[in-house]
Parts: sequence; structure tokens; C-alpha cells
Amino acid sequence: MPSSELVMDNKNASSTAGKIIRCRAAISRIPGKPLVMEEIEVDPPKAGEVRIKILCTSLCHSDVTFWRSTQPPMAVFPRILGHEAVGVVESVGGGVEEVREGDLVLPVFQGDCGECRDCKSPKSNICSKFVNKDNQSMPRDGTNRFRDLKGEVIHNVLNVSSFTEYTVVDVTHVVKITPDIPLDIACLLSCGVSTGLGAAWKVAEVEEGSTVAIFGLGAVGLSVLIRIHLKFTRHTPHILPTLILMSEVQEMYSQL
Ligand SMILES: [Zn+2]
Ligand SMILES: [Zn+2]
Repeated sequence: MPSSELVMDNKNASSTAGKIIRCRAAISRIPGKPLVMEEIEVDPPKAGEVRIKILCTSLCHSDVTFWRSTQPPMAVFPRILGHEAVGVVESVGGGVEEVREGDLVLPVFQGDCGECRDCKSPKSNICSKFVNKDNQSMPRDGTNRFRDLKGEVIHNVLNVSSFTEYTVVDVTHVVKITPDIPLDIACLLSCGVSTGLGAAWKVAEVEEGSTVAIFGLGAVGLSVLIRIHLKFTRHTPHILPTLILMSEVQEMYSQL
């Protein structure tokens, strides 16, 4: 690739569109070992893809699972972990009309093409049009957009890879959001909060009067409680003692 097409991180999105971006990323090279901060190259988005400047990212336990993995198919290295994030669209590939440069977006690991039978069905959220079985590359063509400075491919995780200043995500894995929401809160909507809310709302379909057991009060567990609280218990005072009790139980559990 000619050096004229290689640009350093630049705040001006229009000057980087269509070019390789060189930026920093936290690379997972060896299972269970510390991530390594390196400069990498990020390719421009291909058709149907979006390049995103990551503004905030957080750690989901699934990242830890991939990081620790020593057996295939989960053990793939080197890799850029992270799939809970918020960012701004730097540029888009051909045919992308859903978002444009400057939009605030959430990358999400579960895609929605909006066209296939499963995406249209209210009973499923598992897209059957773009099936990314290996969780280490782009869902449309199975290739990657990251390289280290020696030219070695760096693999993706869960269709997102957010532990980098720039990433490329398929547009079916991007949700545009309002710019009003604080970034550190928006970030959690990308995986943990939507997982917990969805579990109580869409999957378990918790009804008024249901008895609900929640194991663990991390981002997912607390989001289950938020859904129940917003829907059913907003005006009932007993939810607070219940929350405190469950926090104590979790603290005891973590000390075992
Ligand atoms: Zn997650
Ligand atoms: Zn689909």
C-alpha cells in the first residue's frame, strides 16, 4: 500500500475516508496474558460496512472468556477484543444509507439485516442472512480489516472489536443513537444493558406477579432489575430493600 494512502489519526473525517488509518489498539496475543498496546492499520470499510471511531468502550465478561480461551474455535490470536462500545461514524462503505459520517452509533454483536425471515420474526433475533460462525472476521466476506505493522492479520471478535481507536463493523451490527446520552452510559447499551433488559422483556416475558431469580448483579443482572422496576414496581417501595438484599447476597457470594 503506498504511503500516500496511509494516514495518521486525524480528527477530520473527510480526509481519512477511503484510506487506511493507523491508530493504537490493545491486542490480545497470548491467552490470559496482558493486552499489548500497539499501532495497527485499519482498512477502509467495504460495501455494507461502517468505520467507527471508538469514543468509549467497556469490558464484558464474554471478552474475558475469549481472552482466556486456549482451545478452538474460541482461541484465536492475535485478536482485538471488546464488543461493548459507543463511537462516531468516520466513514461508510458502498451502499450504506442507514448511517453517515458524524453519527453517534452503538456497535452490537448481534446483527439485524432487517430482511431475512429470522430478523423479521418477533420470535428471533438471530440473523440467518449473515451468519458469522467463527466470530473472528467480518460477517459478509470472512476477511479482516486489522493488521499489525508487520502485516500480520489481527482477528475480530463478536463482529465488533472495540479495544482500538478505530474499528470496522458491518452496518447490520450498528445502531444509531441520540447524541444527548452520556457516552459512558450509552456504551453499556451496546451489550450488558440490552442483554438484561431483553432477557426480562423479550425472552422471559416477565409478567406482573412473577417471581424472578437473578444470579449476579453486574450490568446484565441490574438491567433485568431495571426492566422489572420500570415496568411493574416503579411505585412500590419494597423494591429498594430487595435490591439491597440482593447486593449483599452477591457480595457474600463473591467472597466465597
Ligand atoms: Zn457482552
Ligand atoms: Zn437477518
